[in-house]
Formats: sequence, structure tokens, C-alpha cells
Amino acid sequence: MDNLWSEDDAARLVAHYAAEGVDPDLALRTYSSRLLGGVPRLVMHGGGNTSVKITVTDLFGEPVRVLCVKGSGRDLGSIEPDGHPAVRLEPLARYRRLDTLSDEDMVNAQRQNLLDTQAPNPSVETLLHAYLPHRFIDHTHSVTATAIAALPNLESVCREIYGDRVACVPYIMPGFALAKLAADIYEANPAIEGLILAKHGIFTFGDTARRSYDLMIEMVTMAEEHIARHARPTPAFAPIGLPERIMPAATALPILRGLLGRASAGRAPTRWVLSPRSSARIRRFVDGAGLADYARRGVATPEQVIRIKAQPCLLPAPDADRADQWRVAAQDAIAAFVAEYDAYFARQNARTGGGKRQLDPLPRLLAVPGLGIVGVGSSAAAAEIAADIGEAWIDAVLDAEAIGRFESIGEDDHFDMEYWSLEQAKLGKGMEKPLARHVVAITGGAGAIGAATARAFAAMGADVAILDLDHDQAGSVATSIGPRALAIGCDVTDAASVGRAFDAVCARFGGVDIVVSNAGAAHGGAMADLPDRVLRAGFELNFFAHQSVAQNAVRVLRTQGFGGALLFNVSKQAVNPGDAFGAYGTPKAALLALVRQYALEHGRDGIRANAVNADRIRSGLLSDSMIAERAAARNLSEDAYLQGNLLGQEVRAEDVAQAFVGAALLERSTGNVTTVDGGNVAAMMR
Ligand SMILES: [Zn+2]
Repeated sequence: MDNLWSEDDAARLVAHYAAEGVDPDLALRTYSSRLLGGVPRLVMHGGGNTSVKITVTDLFGEPVRVLCVKGSGRDLGSIEPDGHPAVRLEPLARYRRLDTLSDEDMVNAQRQNLLDTQAPNPSVETLLHAYLPHRFIDHTHSVTATAIAALPNLESVCREIYGDRVACVPYIMPGFALAKLAADIYEANPAIEGLILAKHGIFTFGDTARRSYDLMIEMVTMAEEHIARHARPTPAFAPIGLPERIMPAATALPILRGLLGRASAGRAPTRWVLSPRSSARIRRFVDGAGLADYARRGVATPEQVIRIKAQPCLLPAPDADRADQWRVAAQDAIAAFVAEYDAYFARQNARTGGGKRQLDPLPRLLAVPGLGIVGVGSSAAAAEIAADIGEAWIDAVLDAEAIGRFESIGEDDHFDMEYWSLEQAKLGKGMEKPLARHVVAITGGAGAIGAATARAFAAMGADVAILDLDHDQAGSVATSIGPRALAIGCDVTDAASVGRAFDAVCARFGGVDIVVSNAGAAHGGAMADLPDRVLRAGFELNFFAHQSVAQNAVRVLRTQGFGGALLFNVSKQAVNPGDAFGAYGTPKAALLALVRQYALEHGRDGIRANAVNADRIRSGLLSDSMIAERAAARNLSEDAYLQGNLLGQEVRAEDVAQAFVGAALLERSTGNVTTVDGGNVAAMMR
């Protein structure tokens, strides 16, 4: 593992924060925390924590010793100095005299001793940092360290790797008892430079930020080298036989999404976003004969159980030639997972005296031979986290099994972690946005209305796919929305291209819920003189392309089996034709009929079909030069032209976007038309 420390960068950051009055040691703490947080094999998704002990001056001019320790929920990779809130050390030290301290009392004690009452909650591992005497302490759940920490003969392996430089701490879940035990073990071995916590991770410490960081990199590297030196081929990874033809992810995932949505029978939300993940290493694991055995053993670190539960749900390989049998087998596997989870909860809740609130019983990680792993979450971001954690678990198992046996904590410890009171207290907090868990695909997504629509759906919590002929422009819109918005090049007049685009959406998010068929363009010309090819081109883009999009959308929505919404950008031209605009208006009139036809034929599937009729929107279709021309033809200023409606207000792309969002939210409305034109009697629906 590379040591990324740079004295120049460190000095620059110290100087930068000195201008803000930040203590140089806290600035260095910030620097090396970011180095650790930038390497996923060391730290991912809020895992790990770091600290520094410094002296600050209070309002009376008195010196106060404080522990600056990572705030709960902060990410080491992007941490700022205020991400290490300062806690008074002396009172924390006094708590060590107690025999026990409940988690709630511990959190309360930590908060009471914050210098800044507005600061985030100090990490749940604060006391461990407080009870070790070192100035700098680094803690990670490094994949390699957790592989070593999973071995039953941890003590002897550590001695072999580190000699007497490291001591081992038996597994206890994070909190007061672990902090006391780790401090006792350190005090019995005061020359050690680090601790390996069984089934958990690694601590290193030193008097300088650099020393503690260097030790972390050195010790993880020593573990890596040990594994490389002693790795043996593991028979359990002998491949199982796979079907001749494996279903592509784009076909398999909407089936799984549908099965997950129905598996909990109303005890969990219906919609989940999926994140598939594959690599040679993942495939070796999920296609291996030992998969069921490893899955039963459990996770590699306590935090993993919170993200992916104690084990993944194992599915059969999706045989493309026996799709129906696979669907039934997958349904049975998910049902068995749910039943086992319910039994686990009942058993463990009874053991711990009852009173726990059951979490939903659905898996967060699926293992699919032939495909890889699939993260399950309430959003693409959450599903990706589950897949990342799943991959880290697989890496730890593979590393541990290469030199010994991977062992996890037992069921009781899994439950204590999964149903930790501090985690239970977070339940029910934070409302989801109205369109969370929904995947939205928007054609013409790079244009003014399409981009505004994509942004509006993303703001409502949806994950969005932006389909556009202009792939680069779609990419810019996606980037402006966020790292998980998906850009896809798609020619809506080419049915194969539309099919591929929907496959890409499904392969990325697991399926789709709302489709905004928005792409369009206008062809002008008086009907009697119109060349046939112009009218046909108008129908290709403004009618048949919508049909192609709708067909693909219905294909996915019916596979999932929990309904969805088809939204079409029609036009006022559908009901209020414009002079010399027949090549646009006639296919749009046909499109309005198409919307109603889909509403009629798929209401029984829970699929709603609705239209938005917009007019006079500044966009690719109504360009600045057209606005100037039309305003001049009517002897109006451009503003007067654009405001020529009952409300006297220009209608913007964002207003059309709101109409699409509104139509998506109206759950009992189908075959409906929402007019967005500021009011125009001639274009009113009748
Ligand atoms: Zn930890």
C-alpha cells in the first residue's frame, strides 16, 4: 500500500488553516485523515475514525486539554477541521472508573463535554481514542486488516507478522467496554505501536500525525505481504457449473426488482434501486462452490452488518434458456431469506428481552452466480454503498481464506450490532423525498425542457437517466445533477437504440418507474405543399419514437409488476393546430391518441399514461431567432410575445418540468392532459 504523505502538501494545509486560527496539529490531523479517507481499501463510506489531543484556551484564558475526534457521520476523505469536534479529555477520563456505561449515557457524556454545543456527535469510538495516551490515533477498517482480524488464530498470525509491535483485542462491539479493554491491553504492553481488533479493524498511534499515518500504511502493507507470501489455492473457490447462457443484467435486474418489491408483503417499501457489481474477483467468489458456506459465516466488520445485514441473499444463476424457472427459484430464495430474517429477529429479540423494532426483512446484498453481486438500496447512492461494502466483505473473505479460515462474529453479536440502540434511535428520522426510490428516464434530456425535467425529478429524490441524441450534452446535464445521474446516447427514431438505452438504465439502476417521453422537433410547411418525406420524418420523431419509448417502458414496468408512469410531452398543437405546422401538429394529435390508448390498455397493470401540453417555451424547439421572428410578425416585443397568455407571464422550461413531476405524483390520474401555457382559450382541452 502506497504511503501518500507529502511534507509540502501537509505544510500547505497547515498554512492554509493557520489563517483561520486552526491549531497546526488539528490541521495535520485533517491532512492525514483525508489521505486515509481517499483510499477505499482503508476507509469507505464514513468508516474509520481519527483523533488528535491538543490544548486549547477557554474564555477565561485557562488551558483545556481536548480530544479532537471524528464526528459521527463525517467522511474522512473530505473532512474539514470542524469534522473533528473537541471534547474535554479530563471528564472523559473519569468515566473509565465506572464498571459499565450504557451507550446512551456514553453519547450523552461525550456531548456534554463538547466545547462547541453545535458540533456533531463525537464518534462512538471516542472513548477508545480518549483512553489511549498518544497524541495522534488512526483507526481504519482496512480490508486487509479485517481479513487478518477474521482469522481464529489472530494472535499467532499477528505475532508472525508484527512480532511484539502490535497487540490484539478480542471482539467486543464498539462502546465503553471495548474502550476500557483496549486501554487495559495497551497499558499491559506500553511499547506497542498498534492494536488489531478482532473482527473489526486496526488502530495505530504516535506522537506526530506522520508517525501514526506511516504506521497505518506500514502495518497494512505488512499484512498484505504476509497474505501474498502465504496464499494457497482454496478448494472452496472451485467454480460451480454455470448455465450455458446467462441472462444479461438488463433482463435479470428488473425481474429481481419486482420480486424484492413484492417479497415483504407490504412490510417494506415496494421500490428499491439496484446496483450490480462485477469483477474477476467477485465472479470467482459468487461462482465458487464455497459461496453458501461463506455467506452463512457473516460479515467482516461490525459496521458492515448495518449496511448489508449479516449475510447476502444467494440466488441461482440466471439461466437465459430457463427464464421462468429462474424467476420462481429466485422468488423462493428471496422468500426464504425473508423467513429466515423474521425467525432471526424473533429469536434474538426474545434473547435480548424484547422491545426492539424490527427492520425490514429484505436483503441488501444479492449474490448472483454468473453475474456478480447486486447492492439493494433506497437510492442509487445507497445501493452503491451496499455493493461497495459487499465487495469489501468478499475481499476480506478471499484474503482470509487464502491463508486460513474466515470467521465472523456469531449471531448474537450480529444482532447486537444490527439492533444497536444507537442505530435504532436513528430509525424513523429523516423523511424520504416524494420520489425517492424511483428511477426516471427522460428522452431529449439534454434540451431545455428535458434538462429542467431531469433536475426537477432529481430534486424530488429520484435517480435519473438522461437520454439524448447528443451524448456529450446529456453528460453535461448528468454531471450538473450529480455523480449518479446517468447519461445515455439514444436516437429515439431508432427502435434498437431505444431498446439499448432502456437496457442501460436497467443494468445501472435495476429498472425504471417513470418515463418522460420528451424528445421532439418541429418541421414547418403548408400541408398541401409538404413533401411526403418531411411529414413522414415528423411522424417518425413525434409519433413513432414515442411509441418505441412507451413499448420499452411497458416491457420493463410489466416485468417489475408494480406499475409506473408514462409521461409524454405532447403540445398544444395536438388540439390547436398552427398554420403551416402540420408536420408537427398531426403527429402530435396522433400522439395524444397514443397516450389515451396506453392509459386504456395498461391501467390494469397500474401503468398510468399522461400528457403535458406546453406552448411557447424558450427551448431548442422554439429558438431565440424564432422568437424574434414571431414577435416581429405579430408586431410585439419578444417579452410581449412570450407573455401573450391569460396570466401575462412567460412560461419557462422549469414550469413544464413541474407539470411532469406533478403528473408523476398524481397517483389516481391517467389519460390526463396538463396544459402549461399560461392560459390560452384556443388550446384549452375540451
Ligand atoms: Zn471501528
